[in-house]
Amino acid sequence: MSSIANPSSARVLIVGAGLTGCTLAHRLAQEGVESVLLERDAVPGGLIRSEHLNGVLYEPHGSHIFHTEDEEVWELANAMTPFRDYRHRVDILADGQILNWPILLSDIERQSRSGEILRQLAERKDVDAAARAQAANFEDWCLELMGPILYERFIKPYTEKQWGRPARELSAAWAPRRVSVRWDNDPYLFPDPYQGWPAGPNGYTDLIDGLLANGRTTLLAGVDVTLDTLAAHAQEAEADAIVLTCPLDVFSGFALGELEWRGILVRNVHVPHVEHAQGAMVVNYPGAEFPFIRIHETKHASGQQCEGTVLGFEFTGAPTRYYPIETEANRRLNDAYQDHLRAELGAERTFFAGRLANYLYIDMDDCMRQALDASEEILASLRVGA
Ligand SMILES: Cc1cc2nc3c(=O)[nH]c(=O)nc-3n(C[C@H](O)[C@H](O)[C@H](O)COP(=O)(O)OP(=O)(O)OC[C@H]3O[C@@H](n4cnc5c(N)ncnc54)[C@H](O)[C@@H]3O)c2cc1C
Repeated sequence: MSSIANPSSARVLIVGAGLTGCTLAHRLAQEGVESVLLERDAVPGGLIRSEHLNGVLYEPHGSHIFHTEDEEVWELANAMTPFRDYRHRVDILADGQILNWPILLSDIERQSRSGEILRQLAERKDVDAAARAQAANFEDWCLELMGPILYERFIKPYTEKQWGRPARELSAAWAPRRVSVRWDNDPYLFPDPYQGWPAGPNGYTDLIDGLLANGRTTLLAGVDVTLDTLAAHAQEAEADAIVLTCPLDVFSGFALGELEWRGILVRNVHVPHVEHAQGAMVVNYPGAEFPFIRIHETKHASGQQCEGTVLGFEFTGAPTRYYPIETEANRRLNDAYQDHLRAELGAERTFFAGRLANYLYIDMDDCMRQALDASEEILASLRVGA
């Protein structure tokens, strides 16, 4: 490690140029710290990058809606690219028709067996859903909230398609964030005070480009870093600190074992001659008769005025790293990887941030918050080292 006169003469090596890595580089640059970002792909942005297909702006990895309560994060994102006021609505094909997701009370009369459903809901109106999350599995939690008809229609097939295992084997812990019945008939998915979608010509790629346009960040793309090659990169960059935002098992050559993920794959198709091909940005297809689980159409959020659209068909069970499988064994394994890497690279100069290195499903605002908090830790460590 080189000696540091003050943080502004320090250099940081960041592995992974997704939203987390780019936010880190931006924040460090504001404090005068230079960073080198190493990215495996040919372009930065990770999961959130937007692209064009035949002139239509779309999201190759599926829909991303910015929604947050974190004012500092919202202001930072808006300082990088303007956002348009988009409120996210999701449709679902259930009971042979397109309905709103989450379930609206006002949609129930349109469904078959509506009298029975209403009776089952009335019996459960006072159930404390959040408290149940501690006690039950996912299936029991949902049954207590909405009864068997709505559960079998809306939740069970979608959940089992998404996770590839029976809903009874899933934890109830994340159900309150994912499943609800809207007694107030609010059709929008997110309640957060700040919501939107980038207003510029390149969607989230403008956010990424804004974060990198600071004069103190060097991006090296097409560089797949491993524990074996890191030392050479750190030496070349004259790095005083290292931040990993990549998957730690892959990075370490699976030295301690493999972390489990549930993957998806989105196949994007250009549809000419129509302005929109579906009624909402996301339509869920829970039924087993459909090989895909959702169809995405970015144009609803981007507001782009052009002929043609792009549909993204989302398939589950792909060998990609999208949703961590939250078990105690996986949590322990990721912790063990962090300890292993601190020991290998130097505990005082090694940091972890983002969804992959922390083995978490986190939204964009949480990613940016983690990056801002990690930057503070890094800056403090550089001051101590000075
Ligand atoms: C299906 C899905 C839908 C989502 N929808 C939303 C949403 O609507 N709203 C929301 O706020 N959030 C959403 N998110 C979450 C959002 O995608 C993440 O919070 C965010 O993209 C994470 O950024 P990251 O930088 O931590 O990870 P990533 O975007 O995965 O970036 C990691 C980067 O590291 C690179 N990398 C990996 N290994 C190496 C290596 N060894 N060497 C060099 N580079 C490497 C990768 O190529 C990648 O560019 C969604 C996530 C998923 C999976």
